[in-house]
Amino acid sequence: MAYPELYLLIDGQRLNHTGRRTMPVVNPATQEVLGELPLANAGDLDAALEAARRAWPVWRAMGPQQRGRILRRAADLLRERGEAIARLATMEEGKALAEARVELTVAADILEWYAEEGRRAYGRVLPQRMAGVRMTVVKEPVGPVAAFAPWNFPLGNPARKLGSALGAGCSVIMKPAEEAPGCALAIAQALVDAGVPAGALNVVFGVPAEVSQHLISSPVIRAVHFTGSIPVGKQLTALAAQGMKRTTMELGGHAPVLVFDDVDVDAVLDQAVASKFRNSGQVCVSPTRFYVQESIYERFAAGFAARARHIKVGNGLEDGVRMGPLAHARRLPAVASMIDEAVQGGARVLAGAEAIAGKGYFYAPTVLADVPDTARIMNDEPFGPVAVLSPFRDFDEAIANANRLPYGLAAYAFTQNARRVNLLGEQIESGMLGINSFTVAAPEAPFGGVKESGHGSEEGIEGLDACLVTKFITES
Ligand code: NAD
Repeated sequence: MAYPELYLLIDGQRLNHTGRRTMPVVNPATQEVLGELPLANAGDLDAALEAARRAWPVWRAMGPQQRGRILRRAADLLRERGEAIARLATMEEGKALAEARVELTVAADILEWYAEEGRRAYGRVLPQRMAGVRMTVVKEPVGPVAAFAPWNFPLGNPARKLGSALGAGCSVIMKPAEEAPGCALAIAQALVDAGVPAGALNVVFGVPAEVSQHLISSPVIRAVHFTGSIPVGKQLTALAAQGMKRTTMELGGHAPVLVFDDVDVDAVLDQAVASKFRNSGQVCVSPTRFYVQESIYERFAAGFAARARHIKVGNGLEDGVRMGPLAHARRLPAVASMIDEAVQGGARVLAGAEAIAGKGYFYAPTVLADVPDTARIMNDEPFGPVAVLSPFRDFDEAIANANRLPYGLAAYAFTQNARRVNLLGEQIESGMLGINSFTVAAPEAPFGGVKESGHGSEEGIEGLDACLVTKFITES
């Protein structure tokens, strides 16, 4: 498949590499250079800010019905163009093609959700305090949004960022990941082809710190939406605070999985292994710390390792491949060093724990047992194809383990005991909790974390609300 031309999308214009710095886009499975990405300079960013400022009232005035029709049409275009876009996602990010196809479908569903939900940005009329006085509360679009989307879901993340802002009536400047630019442009292009007016949607690439500094410090930008690592999220929140801008921060996690001894072990293992190695573990809600009740611990560990060893790793475009490479060159040493440190600290290797030689950023599906709490991998997000296993005795110890880190994005628990399910719901500190399930995302459900995993939610009615402000109007 031919790789598409890359460009910056500013005020409806496609701006190419002429006169701009560029960087190569690399296929992580083959290390082949796919194309050259133009990087925005300060003038480009100013042009994008001016376009977003000018286009906001135009887009807002189109009203939620017309905006909804455009977003719905964009969702249909994505589905029509689906196979080519899914293949592009595998080439740029490495994930298995089957996963990329699902992601494309979800991206279309997200745009459709915001197409519909934009019509329900209801305010309210308050009961009168005195005759002749009317008090109303209205919801309005917050204004131009600066959105930063990472590489791990190169279709889903841009769809969330663009869908929420555009669905609420805001203009938007998005900086997607430089590692997967073709995917972000495919989502943006579907929206443009569906009728989003020039300037309401701008896409820029660049040096991430330069772009975020420039956009967030501009008075044009009224809200900042970021998905990525916790340290970068803290930096961007601090920048936004200088202009008192609203932020939605969807940051990392280190999801605990509590497996109690009343479950069907094989059934849980089938789900757990599929979920763990999805997208090579580069998922913010990836299950990472498996705490397993003592009496089933050894059986669970052996079953996990046996299944992990059978996963076919390779180029995601090839038939039968279930796990692709890590998404870019930086990830390989980052994941390897965490695993090596855990093994030196006493962890037992049950599977993997080595990079796969040859072209591409491949790392073997890895299972580590008896990992001490002091190991870095038990404390920092691994963001790679590695499961760490530890035994627990009773409910209280399991909860203490689950809550021991400063993160709180996703958590999972497996048990058949209804009373325990209730207590888990009350006591686990996380933004999302899967009970007997690893599926914690849906367009209509809020997706976000607590503690250092961030604040605010994407998707669901909360995702739209993040792009709205509340105004109280009193009349007499
Ligand atoms: P990184 O911290 O360099 O980058 C993470 C993302 O943030 C990238 O998309 C990058 O372009 C962007 N970014 C980095 N600095 C930025 C800045 N100053 N302004 C704006 N955007 C900026 O790390 P990486 O090696 O690309 O990814 C690894 C880490 O990132 C992982 O450990 C994981 O914690 C985190 N991550 C999280 C998610 C998520 O879904 N929450 C997604 C991707 C990466």
